[in-house]
Amino acid sequence: MVTATNEEQRAAWLGGRLPEVERVRPGLWSIPVPIPINPLRYVLVYALELPDGVAIVDAGWDTPEAFAGLTAGLAVAGYTIADVRAVLVTHIHPDHYGLAGRVREESGAWVGLHPADARLIPDRYDEGFAEGLVRRERALLDRCGVPPASADELAGASMAVRHFVRLAEPDVLIEDGDRLDLPGWDLRAIWTPGHSPGHLCFAEPGRRLLLSGDHVLPRITPIVAVHPQAPANPLADYLDSLASIRALEADEVLPAHEYRFAGLADRVDHVIAHHHERLDEIEKTVAAAGEIACWDLATRLTWSRPWETIPLFMRRAANGETLAHLVWLEARGRVRRTPGTPDLWSPAT
Ligand SMILES: [Zn+2]
Ligand SMILES: [Zn+2]
Repeated sequence: MVTATNEEQRAAWLGGRLPEVERVRPGLWSIPVPIPINPLRYVLVYALELPDGVAIVDAGWDTPEAFAGLTAGLAVAGYTIADVRAVLVTHIHPDHYGLAGRVREESGAWVGLHPADARLIPDRYDEGFAEGLVRRERALLDRCGVPPASADELAGASMAVRHFVRLAEPDVLIEDGDRLDLPGWDLRAIWTPGHSPGHLCFAEPGRRLLLSGDHVLPRITPIVAVHPQAPANPLADYLDSLASIRALEADEVLPAHEYRFAGLADRVDHVIAHHHERLDEIEKTVAAAGEIACWDLATRLTWSRPWETIPLFMRRAANGETLAHLVWLEARGRVRRTPGTPDLWSPAT
């Protein structure tokens, strides 16, 4: 069972409100930073007090509202943006990394990121390279059997979020097991690929805390999808990195969305079980179809709402998630792929 460790924060999440800026522990603050036009509504930035300022874990989107939210939250803790010494980014999704560059400009803070995510930056966020990414996305959609009219529209769909990101190469590459140079803190990086190839969690063993980014959240599961920048089998990476944090001794998990909670091992077990149920459902649906393309398969699965009502750009994520599960099943010999345009999936035997 997952238990919210601050009932008010959970109530704010459920009630559609922004939670309070809070002192979670002496010297550790939770700051909700609003994110626009997104059902997640806010990212929880954590500020860790240092002898000469603060380090923050994640930053928010690069919008004036987010910057104002972060600034106001830091003010509650007694700091200004200029006091930020370090920005530890759990992963390069816009809601975590987008504002890091602006914070660095205003404060001179160093920005840290795992190399596997740092590597994706030019392709994803640099104007000059983005076209190549759109082309690869289009090829992937074709191999999934997405109807051409939808594929045209979907291939460039994520380019819009680049407006929420200030391109910022990291100053520090953070590797698995690194102990961060933050006086007063024993913060260890744990590489947890899956949701993003270079996703990082941060453990604080002395305070028995885990800052989990998007890797583990109390109620929702992060998207794990095949896309042009994803490694071969992202779901295998994700399930492995869930297992790798399961036994951590954390009294409290500090996620980047929703609310803080206790019960890490139970939550990990639940998420792993959820993916195995999904894998079983997909294997059965492939068996029933005999031979099917990924997109057609996605339309037949159970989603949180009927397929027809899912907006097109969310269908792309659904397709990428379905493909991640197919690739996992293929690696285990549970389904077979006949390459083509589209690839066709059939039962293994
Ligand atoms: Zn994310
Ligand atoms: Zn996120």
